[in-house]
Amino acid sequence: MRALLLATSLLLPGTTMTPSTPTTVARLETLRLGQLQVWKLQDGRISLAASLLKGIDPAEARRLLGGQDAADTPVNAYLVRMPDRTVLVDTGMGKDPEEDSGHLAEQLSAAGMAPSDIDLILITHDHFDHIGGLLKADGTRAFPKAVVAVARREHAFWTEDPSHLPERLRDRASKLKALFGVYEKAGAFRLFEDGEELAPGLRAIPAHGHTGGHAVYAFTSEGRELWCIGDLIHFGAVQFQHPEAGVAFDLDGDRAVKVRQELFRDAARRKAVLAGAHLPQIVRITPKGAGYDAARP
Ligand SMILES: [Zn+2]
Repeated sequence: MRALLLATSLLLPGTTMTPSTPTTVARLETLRLGQLQVWKLQDGRISLAASLLKGIDPAEARRLLGGQDAADTPVNAYLVRMPDRTVLVDTGMGKDPEEDSGHLAEQLSAAGMAPSDIDLILITHDHFDHIGGLLKADGTRAFPKAVVAVARREHAFWTEDPSHLPERLRDRASKLKALFGVYEKAGAFRLFEDGEELAPGLRAIPAHGHTGGHAVYAFTSEGRELWCIGDLIHFGAVQFQHPEAGVAFDLDGDRAVKVRQELFRDAARRKAVLAGAHLPQIVRITPKGAGYDAARP
């Protein structure tokens, strides 16, 4: 199953898996916000070509990338310990011998947790680098006690009427149904509505554009906010300063730009801490010129 998912994954020209050098487990980044303890868990790395960027002068993009033609980009999941439950946001790419990926379990263990400690898994969207860690190599659940939650709109986007999808993505429906079906059969799969409060202090914010039902998860504790923003942004060095720049991955590019601009504005106003699936660090943003400055909170 996983091999199939990877083989038919979203890889576009310009995206390559970073060649696997035996990896040291990435250093854990952790932070406390109110009663929340948050860990960034780096599952792997990919290299994103600068040519994937759209809506920005290529010379400016290159300058912001330090003169490089590609950005070495992490693939992150996030562990959030709430007072009453332990939540994982996304699950990384899963293990593949040819790729630098599948380090989620090691990272979890470095945070002092086991897969069986996870109560709830929130999927930001159904791209392979976010759902690849859900199953073990034998096709059984990697997180035996967790309920997996996906936005109803995201699930429908991929699994109902694939005619609106680009040709290369139309075979995804059956694979996604089989993957989530493993959890569904165990009574551990749920769909939620846009904007739904999933638990006290945990809300799903619709952030469509990158995919049809992409969701951001907002955790709140003692007036502090953590937003797990998934793929709202891919190039941290470029798109904070230029939120109008999109990437070739965004299935609805115009909408993705609009949503990014709206949510960045809101996040800056609320002083929310942002945790991105492809950001090298957890940040807080403040307005700067037509864009934002991003710094450690
Ligand atoms: Zn992604």
